Amino acid sequence: MRAEIIAIGTELTSGQKLDTNSAWLSRRLQEFGIQPCWHTTLPDELETIVAALEVARQRAEVVVITGGLGPTLDDLTREALARLAGVELILHEPSLRHIEELFARRGRPMPERNRLQAMIPRGAEVIPNPIGTAPGIWISVLRKPCDCPPEVSPLSLGLAKPRTLIIALPGVPSELQAMWQEEVAPRLRKLGPAPIVIRERVLHCFGLGESAIEAKLGDLTRRGRNPEVGITASDAVISLRLVAQAPCEAEALALLDADEATIRQTLGDLVFGAGDEDLQHAVARLLEQTGQSLATAESVTGGLIASRLTQVPGISRFYRGGIVAYQTPTKAHVLGVPVRLLEQQGAVSAPVAEAMAQHARQLFQADLALSTTGVAGPDLDERGHPVGLVYIGLAWSGGVRSWEVRWFGNRLEIQSRAARSALNELRLHLLRHLPAPAGTQR
Ligand code: AMP
Ligand code: MG
Repeated sequence: MRAEIIAIGTELTSGQKLDTNSAWLSRRLQEFGIQPCWHTTLPDELETIVAALEVARQRAEVVVITGGLGPTLDDLTREALARLAGVELILHEPSLRHIEELFARRGRPMPERNRLQAMIPRGAEVIPNPIGTAPGIWISVLRKPCDCPPEVSPLSLGLAKPRTLIIALPGVPSELQAMWQEEVAPRLRKLGPAPIVIRERVLHCFGLGESAIEAKLGDLTRRGRNPEVGITASDAVISLRLVAQAPCEAEALALLDADEATIRQTLGDLVFGAGDEDLQHAVARLLEQTGQSLATAESVTGGLIASRLTQVPGISRFYRGGIVAYQTPTKAHVLGVPVRLLEQQGAVSAPVAEAMAQHARQLFQADLALSTTGVAGPDLDERGHPVGLVYIGLAWSGGVRSWEVRWFGNRLEIQSRAARSALNELRLHLLRHLPAPAGTQR
């Protein structure tokens, strides 16, 4: 069963206010196995609203409207619904009494305009509003039979074919949500299929782009699959959102477990965490597992790595501290990187990244040290290195190494992605050097 959500309000189409109701309603509809297919946002214009409703009634079996039920001249949902259904607006006495009572409780006279809120299209049902003046409207309207595709059947809603159910709710989020939970959900439960359980899980990856990760996952990301696996990218982290639908929680979780296992097996160490975890959490876990301490020496990332690490509770047991060695002379005077090396190689170079890590490791008496040096832009550095070029250094008891990475983006994006890359290289290093579990050979 497919649904359209229509958010009404010029404050939404003009960009002054964000439409949060549609997202909330989409989630609720899916709990009934109703698939939200269209989000439509409209200004407070009668003709535009009626035209959109004409389209919606033909393509969706359920239409949920939010907004336009207030008492002012720009609240046009009631009138649009009456036009669509070809009926007049009539006064709903119990709603009028409810509105009068609300005003009486606040000790104010009811303005005449609020009477409008008790007007509903003839033949519609009222959805009571326990916390506000605007009642909602529940109405089923005819589809245009010629436009009704045969495979779309509204019978599962218990409606006489071919009709579309329209549910109009106020725009105020607290009222909308209370009315949905107390009035709309129980009615849908009576009409439609049994509610289903939806459970989600998010896995995070770093190291490949979203298309490359999707290609590796093959059939897992096919639309309409259960669980559905969606891919999003944010600041170089690729997240896989698994959404499982099942009749009960245990079945939904079992579906998620099975897919998570397949994904982890397919993507290996590209997957670094789940839920609210970021790369620093994965690093902290591995430091704890291996009992090693860490220091940082940052240039291009300006302390971002230190900042991320110190977001993790309990990290003080493993993270010794860091230095932001930003100017080239600071790399020599504070960290101890040889001046000759800086002059020969330039501050943005692999040997300098390695030297920064080695000196930080000694300074902080740490098992490991991570460093960054690079060009955040917007201009090239004095040696003509391109914007986005970053060297990462890592020193440990057995040696030192460096990585060259190149990121696109503005200054903040390059810094943030460079910090993530550094944390990721450290994570992979720690994974490769994990002690073998007892009784196994590596
Ligand atoms: P209305 O029912 O159109 O009078 O809306 C009342 C108030 O609810 C508006 O002034 C907005 O502040 C808020 N509102 C309306 N529509 C939405 C929406 N789609 N998402 C979030 N808030 C909304
Ligand atoms: Mg409005």
